[in-house]
Amino acid sequence: MIPISKPLLGEEEEKLVLEVLRSGNLVQGEKVEEFEREFAKYAGARHAIATNSGTSSLHTALLAAGIGKGDEVITTPFTFIASVNSITFCQARPVFADIREEDFNINVKLIEDAITSKTKAIMPVHLYGSPCDMDSLQEIAYKHNLHIIEDACQAHGAEFNGRKVGTFGTGCFSFYPSKNMTTGEGGMITTNDDGIAERCRLIRNHGSKVRYYHEIVGYNYRMTNLAAAIGIPQLKKLEEFNNKRIKNAEYLTKRLSKLKWLITPKIRSNSRHVFHQYTLRITGKNRDEVAKILTSKGVGNSVYYPVPATLQKPYKELKVSMPVSEKMAKEVLSIPVHPALLNEELDYIAKTFEEM
Ligand SMILES: *Cc1c(COP(=O)(O)O)cnc(C)c1O
Repeated sequence: MIPISKPLLGEEEEKLVLEVLRSGNLVQGEKVEEFEREFAKYAGARHAIATNSGTSSLHTALLAAGIGKGDEVITTPFTFIASVNSITFCQARPVFADIREEDFNINVKLIEDAITSKTKAIMPVHLYGSPCDMDSLQEIAYKHNLHIIEDACQAHGAEFNGRKVGTFGTGCFSFYPSKNMTTGEGGMITTNDDGIAERCRLIRNHGSKVRYYHEIVGYNYRMTNLAAAIGIPQLKKLEEFNNKRIKNAEYLTKRLSKLKWLITPKIRSNSRHVFHQYTLRITGKNRDEVAKILTSKGVGNSVYYPVPATLQKPYKELKVSMPVSEKMAKEVLSIPVHPALLNEELDYIAKTFEEM
């Protein structure tokens, strides 16, 4: 079976994890600080604040922006549920703007219609590693004085107009094993705003700057030194990983774009898509049948995501209809694009499609 994702962990990760284990300093300390410094440098942000998951980074970033009870945050329904849940954690209300077919990302043209006097923030999600339209989104945010909280959990190293995602507002990243780089579980917040950074650090650690003195009610969202020890060498390899993903995607597109019953992913000229997922639209065959055949031939595949957030049980009662998201949920199919793929495997994946 060719897996849909596979983390690439090596000797340097092993060595650093052992070093931390032997030191006995397991929780948020030197290694975390080093990882934060390196991540900030890579992302081109003034600050990077490590957390224990992408979800906790989103929750922390929203709280640091002052999002609370009764506030509204505009986001996409076509995402992993964590984006939407993090808004709910703040007792705020997720308000949805539908996506566009060409890149599965929030349709910026629909955002202004969703703005009310309660709107406090926009949360774009750079889905599959493809950046949202950040110039027009930023324009709307400035005009209406709204925070931007970027869910960049699938987009480490992606760029829009030459600028890395996560620097257009507050950036939130995940290091879950399937992502472009991993720490097992882990997350990171990036920001150029000193005040937001300060609040994120407080929220992450029970509101504490000085041990056992608590300024606000916070959470335990700290990253462990063990996770950071994996993250430091992973970050060094991220560019190599991303370039391999991009090359694999180019290969798949060259082979698969000849098939009339599917649509290959678009790369926009002003952006760097880092292919967290390589996601096809199956338009001329039954998507679930195609998935079944792939599985039977040993080609890993998955549907991200089969149900838009607006149709999930906790949000169904909002009764909002998102026609484009609902249509895409029936068509999308992701196939392996990860950097561990061998040339023979890429060829086999393409052949399996060509023979269908
Ligand atoms: C992975 C992911 C998250 C959550 O990250 P975790 O580290 O699993 O908590 C949030 N949003 C999106 C779009 C993701 O893909």
